Amino acid sequence: VSGAHVPVLVIGTGYGGSVAALRLARAGVPVHMVEMGMAWDTPGPDGKIFCHTTSPDRRSYWLRTRTRQPLSSFLGFPLDKDIPRYTGILDAEELGGITVYQGRGVGGGSLVNGGMAVTPRRSHFAAILPTVDAGEMYATYYPRANAELGVGLVDPDWFDSAACYQYARVGRRHAQRAGFPFVFVPDVYDWDYMEQEAAGTVPKSAVAGEILYGNNHGKKSLQQTYLARAAATGRVTVSALHRVTSVAPAPGGGYTVAVDQLDTGGATTAAKTVTADRVFFAAGSVGTSKLLVRLRATGALPGLNGEIGRHWGENGNVMCGRANHLWDPTGRVQAAIPCGGIDNWDAGGAFAEVAPLPTGIETYASFYLSITRNPHRGRFTYNAATGAVELDWQRAWKQPSIDMAKTIFDRINAKEGTIYRSDLFGVGRVWGDHLTYHPLGGAVLDKATDNHGRLHGHPGLYVIDGALIPGNTSVNPFVTITALAERNIEHIIANDL
Ligand code: FAD
Repeated sequence: VSGAHVPVLVIGTGYGGSVAALRLARAGVPVHMVEMGMAWDTPGPDGKIFCHTTSPDRRSYWLRTRTRQPLSSFLGFPLDKDIPRYTGILDAEELGGITVYQGRGVGGGSLVNGGMAVTPRRSHFAAILPTVDAGEMYATYYPRANAELGVGLVDPDWFDSAACYQYARVGRRHAQRAGFPFVFVPDVYDWDYMEQEAAGTVPKSAVAGEILYGNNHGKKSLQQTYLARAAATGRVTVSALHRVTSVAPAPGGGYTVAVDQLDTGGATTAAKTVTADRVFFAAGSVGTSKLLVRLRATGALPGLNGEIGRHWGENGNVMCGRANHLWDPTGRVQAAIPCGGIDNWDAGGAFAEVAPLPTGIETYASFYLSITRNPHRGRFTYNAATGAVELDWQRAWKQPSIDMAKTIFDRINAKEGTIYRSDLFGVGRVWGDHLTYHPLGGAVLDKATDNHGRLHGHPGLYVIDGALIPGNTSVNPFVTITALAERNIEHIIANDL
């Protein structure tokens, strides 16, 4: 309701926002969450909430008239197609030299991601966030995050025989033959449900190839975990299809928050203002950075410091495929949830997840998303002429990532006598170096904020999402985002409220 006053307003409903909402509500504080995407709680005309990976419809992309699939071609055929402009679930946001994929809707990235729930090695965490007590993180906050998110491991015996993980077993064999450790990767997907999918006793989701535009069954997104528990407190309200456009000090104390209500075509149907005693920025690395950079540059939040918009990275994401021999089929049916990876981080700077290629046909291809120790960092700046926030990033900055991924795949190719695929990212392109799934940074802990996420210069404003992490987590990021949010909110509740 326009003109309302709330004790706490949370911008965004991804991992950071959901942790903040649950913990504040359990501490007795009413919380209002504002989310620009849709609620994703109502089935479409086909009876399903989410559309399928191989038949994207208007539900697939955020305000685009053509899909922007991470794999843009296959065997020389372009895969993208026209779709109606709609507030779909996956944003392929073009920022300078990189396409940044993000979830849009109540649940944020948890709606679209692969659910890979990885706790980094402690020494890596300590190097990334040196001012955070790693002892506390590994004793308390990582276990807490893993428990709340419902993280589990595939049953290794079932893995060894499941047809839908043939592609992962091929990935394991090739990794091990080249001398690399293959590790199982935990996930928030319900593994018992997946076994039933494979047995044909329940409706199929991961085994049918659902991923990227939402899973209709099996995946424990934030809607099933943190947000469900937050709602159960009775103290949390959520406004979907509402976008925060401004936060500024209110005359009588607290903050005035400007919010646009959107229709499903993306048009603003109402402009509202709310006052809040405290505001948590949880709009994701890009969303939080864009808001804060603009609010600082336009003078709405003049106290923010010069660290705003800095130390942004893409977690070194780079994709590639390999062409296998005819005696190494990867399977026609592929579970869309990855469950294993190749760890060459310490020696080569790369951790590669063995990813599915759920096309429904035999491709004889192995596909990988590598996380690498890319040292390049981007920066968000405000363009006063256009009023837009821009990211400086160049595609050439992915070269270190490619070199690190090659420490794994050149060796596997040499051992197997195989080559890279060059038909997946446009004709002749071997490397998917134009994108990231893992934006991180822009309002970094202990730089733009204090050591617990309080923004410098404006008491009552906090950052609690992936923007706090300086560009890399050495593994998939959401468990770290969740655990850091658990740590920070506990401190904030104990000291600020
Ligand atoms: P988000 O989850 O991005 O949430 C931010 C929310 O804020 C969004 O819902 C957004 O719509 C909303 N918002 C933004 N701006 C505004 C505004 N102005 N007003 C209102 N609302 C706003 N990570 C892993 O760990 N494992 C994986 O397997 C994995 N796979 C991935 C696969 C894909 C395809 C993608 C895109 C990501 C994947 N990730 C994975 C990354 C992971 O999802 C993100 O790191 C994580 O979601 C970030 O959490 P967050 O809390 O920072 O923000």
